[in-house]
Amino acid sequence: MWELARSNKRKSIFLFAGMLLLLVGLGFFAGGAFDPQAGPFLGVTLAMFLWIIQLIISYFAGGSIMLALSGAKPVTRDMHPRLFNIVEEMKIAANLPVLPKIYVIPEEAPNAFATGRNPQKSAVAVTAGLLSRLNRDELQGVIAHEMSHVLNRDILFMTLVGVSLGSIVLLSNIFLRGMFHSGSSSRYRSRGKGGGQAALIFLAIAIVFAILSPIMAQLLYFAISRRREYLADATGVRLTRYPEGLASALEKMSRTDLVLSRVNKVTAALYIVNPLKRKGMQLADLTATHPPISERIKILRSLTYGVNFAAYQKAFESVRGRPASLIPKGGLSDAATVALRAPSKDTGPVEPVPAQRIAGDLIMAASGFTFVTCACGLKMKTPPDFRGNSLRCPKCGKVNSVNAA
Ligand SMILES: [Zn+2]
Repeated sequence: MWELARSNKRKSIFLFAGMLLLLVGLGFFAGGAFDPQAGPFLGVTLAMFLWIIQLIISYFAGGSIMLALSGAKPVTRDMHPRLFNIVEEMKIAANLPVLPKIYVIPEEAPNAFATGRNPQKSAVAVTAGLLSRLNRDELQGVIAHEMSHVLNRDILFMTLVGVSLGSIVLLSNIFLRGMFHSGSSSRYRSRGKGGGQAALIFLAIAIVFAILSPIMAQLLYFAISRRREYLADATGVRLTRYPEGLASALEKMSRTDLVLSRVNKVTAALYIVNPLKRKGMQLADLTATHPPISERIKILRSLTYGVNFAAYQKAFESVRGRPASLIPKGGLSDAATVALRAPSKDTGPVEPVPAQRIAGDLIMAASGFTFVTCACGLKMKTPPDFRGNSLRCPKCGKVNSVNAA
């Protein structure tokens, strides 16, 4: 485990250096395009200043920002006892120092993510749709995958890198827009001959840089976040000792047509299954933050004898059909194979609708009550004289519309 976190750290430093280089280059040439003498220095200073401010904010509040952006609500043990139970179980298996904070996103599309700063300060969020669709083994597989992101120190990294990517995109947008709106070419002509030429060279390089750097930053980001998804799968199944749980959960998550309503480019990379479905575009593979689900499922399903990093590495290579390194050498040395466990007898959805409630509902329906089922699975009853047209779910907080029936 430690090896994995350490190797991730090395890769993070490399990635940050790459992002930094792009930012410095962007600031240097964009500044030079405005003023060849003082501009490059000012541009670099401004770019660094913006970046550092954003990093500081996301270090201290990145987790809360991600949770707020996704609409996640903190939940208590009484609201979701089985979810708490599974998170506790996986916290012990992963040997985490504290229980991550638990959040539910009031949305029907099944998905989940983890965020936070470190294992002491982490959070996992699952959608209501995930709880009503998965059984115990499947939810455990998803939670173990998320815990692995906490364990492998992915959570802070993914937040900071997402934010850095955002800075690069923002800066190059500002520059390109500024260029084409201010009619800057007239200023170059009015200046001395030498200065004007230098400015034009800077301008040409700056435009190329501004167009290319967001693309390069994204490729860098995507390549590494994809690798982290595989690693979280590999680490997660070591915790559950039941690869089929995660495999079948991923299958259910990929089959749905439901989409998350609150998601953007920065938060998308956090989710266990890519929430941004591209229609039509098949260029997706190069720029996808997530490895293809079918491949992840295939790898998990070929772990038939036992789980450890060496077994996952072998399955990874056989599914890809060529040698590829995924797990760092130190991780492979923990050769003890962990035997698979039998499936849980608990095969129903984690949050089923209790039978008594259904019987009670029939009686109430007969006396004029109407029902509204929230995305989290909670059924709310409205009396015959209810006149409002929206109802806030007491469990997950989502506002549901009520059709007068
Ligand atoms: Zn993940």
